[in-house]
Amino acid sequence: MNGSFGYECDSCGLFKIYTVEDSAEIFCSSCKNKLGTVSANWSLENSCPFCDCKSYYKRKDFNQILGAGILLTGAVLSIIYNYFVLIGFALLDIVLFNYVPDVAVCYKCAVELRGFNGIDGLSVFDHHTADLYQFSNNENS
Ligand SMILES: [Zn+2]
Ligand SMILES: [Zn+2]
Repeated sequence: MNGSFGYECDSCGLFKIYTVEDSAEIFCSSCKNKLGTVSANWSLENSCPFCDCKSYYKRKDFNQILGAGILLTGAVLSIIYNYFVLIGFALLDIVLFNYVPDVAVCYKCAVELRGFNGIDGLSVFDHHTADLYQFSNNENS
């Protein structure tokens, strides 16, 4: 396994990307709180190692690019110069969008899962599914 987990610690709020190669317990690198346990052959068919939720959605891994920023820069430039600049930047944005990898995200704890098989096959974010997990959270508390 060579996936990674981007997780925000429940206790201290530190966000960090944890790389896991083998069966491992994951501890927050700041407050040493135990975050979860990952088995060596963990895949997206298993429940989330951090919260036991089994639903994930995929989204573009925008942490790696600044697509919105590029489009905004293009828009500003186009006002100054001409609309061709905007078209050029929009095309650049589309190209980047297609090259940006998908990341899987847990509906419940929002852990970001990178580099696992099957991310392509996940559905995009669904409000009804998200509501389901939010409601169950409310009932528990
Ligand atoms: Zn922590
Ligand atoms: Zn989770």
